[in-house]
Amino acid sequence: MTKNSILERWLNRKKTTDTKLNAVPKHIKDLPIGESAPLSYGQQRLWFLQQLFPQNPFYHYVDVLRFKGILNVDVLTQSFQKIIERHDILRTTFLFKNDLGVQHVSSQMELEHSFFDISDQALNLRESIALDLALEISRQPFDLSKGPLFRIGIIQLTDREHFLVLSMHHIISDKWSMRILREELALIYQTLNSGLSPSLPKLEIQYADYAYLQRAKEIDSIHLDYWKSKLNGELSILNLPTDHPRPTHASYNGSLITKELSTELTNKLRILAKNSNTTLFVLLLSAFKVMLYRYTNQEDILIGTPFANRDEVELEKLVGFFNETLVLRSDLSGDPSFTSLVQKVRQTVLDAFSHKDTPFENLVKHLKPDRYISTNPLFQGMFLYHKVEPTPSFGDQLMLEHEPFDFGVSKFDLTLYISEEEDTIKTIFEYSTDLFEPETIERMQAHFKTMLEGIINDPDQRISRLPILSKNELKQQIVDWNDTEVTFPKIETIHEMIEGHVIRIPNETAVIDKDSQLTYTELDQKANRIAQHLQTLHVTPNTPIGLCCQRSIEMVIGIFGILKAGCAYVPLDPDYPIDRLQWMLDDSKAPIVLTQSQTADIFTNINSTIFSIDNILETQPSDTTILTENIGSDNLAYIIYTSGSTGRPKGVPVTHSNLIHSINARFDYYPDSPENFLLLSSLSFDSSIVGIFWTLSTGGCLVLPEFRIEQDMECLSTLISKYGITHTLLLPSLYSLLLQHGDAERMTSLKTIIVAGESCTSTLCKLHFGILPNVNLYNEYGPTEATVWCTVHHLSKEDAKRTIPIGKPIANTQIYVLDQNHQLVPQGATGEIFIGGAGVVKEYFNLQSLSTNRFVQNVFSTDVRSKLYRTGDLGRYRVDGLIEFLGRADRQVKIRGYRIELDEITEVLSQHPEIDEAVVFVHADDEKTSEDSWSKTIIEDKQTQQIIQLLQLLEPDQAEQLIESVETISENQLEYLFKD
Ligand code: AMP
Ligand code: MG
Repeated sequence: MTKNSILERWLNRKKTTDTKLNAVPKHIKDLPIGESAPLSYGQQRLWFLQQLFPQNPFYHYVDVLRFKGILNVDVLTQSFQKIIERHDILRTTFLFKNDLGVQHVSSQMELEHSFFDISDQALNLRESIALDLALEISRQPFDLSKGPLFRIGIIQLTDREHFLVLSMHHIISDKWSMRILREELALIYQTLNSGLSPSLPKLEIQYADYAYLQRAKEIDSIHLDYWKSKLNGELSILNLPTDHPRPTHASYNGSLITKELSTELTNKLRILAKNSNTTLFVLLLSAFKVMLYRYTNQEDILIGTPFANRDEVELEKLVGFFNETLVLRSDLSGDPSFTSLVQKVRQTVLDAFSHKDTPFENLVKHLKPDRYISTNPLFQGMFLYHKVEPTPSFGDQLMLEHEPFDFGVSKFDLTLYISEEEDTIKTIFEYSTDLFEPETIERMQAHFKTMLEGIINDPDQRISRLPILSKNELKQQIVDWNDTEVTFPKIETIHEMIEGHVIRIPNETAVIDKDSQLTYTELDQKANRIAQHLQTLHVTPNTPIGLCCQRSIEMVIGIFGILKAGCAYVPLDPDYPIDRLQWMLDDSKAPIVLTQSQTADIFTNINSTIFSIDNILETQPSDTTILTENIGSDNLAYIIYTSGSTGRPKGVPVTHSNLIHSINARFDYYPDSPENFLLLSSLSFDSSIVGIFWTLSTGGCLVLPEFRIEQDMECLSTLISKYGITHTLLLPSLYSLLLQHGDAERMTSLKTIIVAGESCTSTLCKLHFGILPNVNLYNEYGPTEATVWCTVHHLSKEDAKRTIPIGKPIANTQIYVLDQNHQLVPQGATGEIFIGGAGVVKEYFNLQSLSTNRFVQNVFSTDVRSKLYRTGDLGRYRVDGLIEFLGRADRQVKIRGYRIELDEITEVLSQHPEIDEAVVFVHADDEKTSEDSWSKTIIEDKQTQQIIQLLQLLEPDQAEQLIESVETISENQLEYLFKD
């Protein structure tokens, strides 16, 4: 059954209950006390949310006021009672009636108040005790059906200092209402206090009238059309870099951080706003948008902003919920100057206000944006601006102070409140503590300020160039975290590093495969024969030589021999399609291919000459050392082909110098070198370099398991124990299988496990420390273009708590995380990983324009020849300088370690005469797994029970909205929900 048909069934079931709004009496003003009125649109949304989160205080409206002077507590509570009598809304509760939410006004309601005297507590503790009490009072849940939805708490700190905590459900209040309350309170209090009885003018209408009128009013289609066109197309979901993954269900817990801007900066901003013919609201909103753009790299920025929908004079005196939300969408593409962005934002704001008469809920209903239960629809960031008004007078004896109060909630991911005071501006960041740590928001605050200063310095600056990082942060990212210089002994070729061990430990085993094994001397002699054979064919230095072998001793002999001859090997995986292999041979113009006898006949129609390694070893007469002249560190060692988006694989030519760096960096980083290394990578992945060259250049033994051993974990653990394997490198997914299905008792020889090639997960980290707690686990990261690795992280148990980092740059390597304009991104924000240093190859093989695009000028180096490789990988810096990998910026994927550009497949498919257009997706098994776990949570989840109950009670369109809003529920889960 599809989601639609379920919905259909649901709607049919509800069809009999027509819209009850018509049943509301026309003359609502005469509505007798005790009768019910409809909910305003805004109230309906809050009521709805309250059903979903009955215990959550996120829609409480809280004010904490500080009274200094002599306070008459009795008079204060009496004053509130008078206010309750004046405003129907303060006596209102919300009920279900005939399947509808209605508001019911009681003729009487007692003020709910509490009093705490803490004046006997130690003076230095009183403030914090009072704040704790205030927090408790403000978070106490309200029952919308019972009321009162308004409570106060009075806390006495000294006989001359009191806190007044005012907590209301937002469904009956808003910011404006709070001001009315303060003003009326001041008036009534003073009157009562002087022994008189207060007489405020009677209210002309009450909130219920407004609700009724709003419901009865037709929404002008011009407004709706405006929004439909303004919010057309895919709406981006603000992708702020978070410290914690977004939970399936938001808790709406939050916090506030306040910073004050200097008077000087405030004045300059005021002047700039004036000169730009706009307001501080627009100016600061534009700056906020730029900051979000710089943090997210998203150009489509949607921000919500509330406004008081109190156009009619009668509404100005009412307490109640009149807030509406406008969505302010801006396109920041094209890197405009800040001043021109301000003009665009200004127009957006003007247009939005002139079409404000479209209730937000109607907008959501009409636009049907993609909805996820833990994100707000249409926008995830909020911007609020207000001028601080003077507090009303309570007479000569009593002063009132009013500060923002943090009661631990955040309705959105991030809200920027701007509070404009006489001399200064305060920026208050309210943030979701599900997502962010306070330090992150502190930094964001500082970035906002740096950016505002940059704007003042040069308002015409392009938005990509506005400063955002502090000098310290710049130094940290450019210098401190890239301070990796290490000097190694000078050496020209990688094979020299192996030859040293031939002299030192001639009879130690160098390499073992399933059939045989070789000592260092034997390996050297056999490699010499291969080299001599190649030399008789008059190869010149750098000549690419194809090498098509299974994982075997011949393979290692072949590599070593090719290098000794001064040539570069081109790995050709015998399991690859023959067309692809032939293409690599054509592209590299390899004149010769070395094979084993069993792989010799896969090539049929090629220009290269094929030799079998076994034959050469048998026929080549001498195994003495040969001299390789004119071979130096700039010569090529290998060319590895990786997937290319043009439809053809691209060659990455790696020099001896690159390769020596890659191995030297291991000497620098790893405390011990491999005694017995199990090679699990295929030769056509550069991760095979680790096993082959690290092991042989340190005198260890390289163990080559049989082809497809990866499919049998029992066998793999036996092999580990048989050969006393100390080191290995494998994909995290394979390691996870080994841990789950292998035999840990047979893996006791292991000392070092390296995972690489794909993301290492927390689950794997936990698994590892559960099963092999004494084995060192490392996560290495790096593309072929930077020679195997460029960052590494040594994992600890604690790492499992969050995203596993890829670590820090290795010796003589620099990493920069940059945005699309090649600017450093703030710590924590997502950018593209750029790599510099000794491992970065010069270019792609024979691909000039692609090379220019991917190997770019290193602007952080004084050496003009220095290049950075743009990886296309996304990453970010953590506070501790560790880097996290966050996926790809393009359509490259990894499938079982294979690096695949999806565009390569698309390109090839499109070449078929019958195919006009092709689209390629990866069907990830992971998705299924996460969905399975979703279904488990939702079934057990209390919230689901509430959804079910709620659906029983809802109006068809409300039910529809709810179903839409739980977009992440699969068909099966929906079926479950509707099961009777
Ligand atoms: P390759 O050139 O075949 O070695 O693939 C390099 C790519 O694999 C990188 O650009 C990343 O996208 C991915 N990769 C390599 N190591 C890691 C790692 N430790 N974590 C996440 N992704 C990785
Ligand atoms: Mg690799």
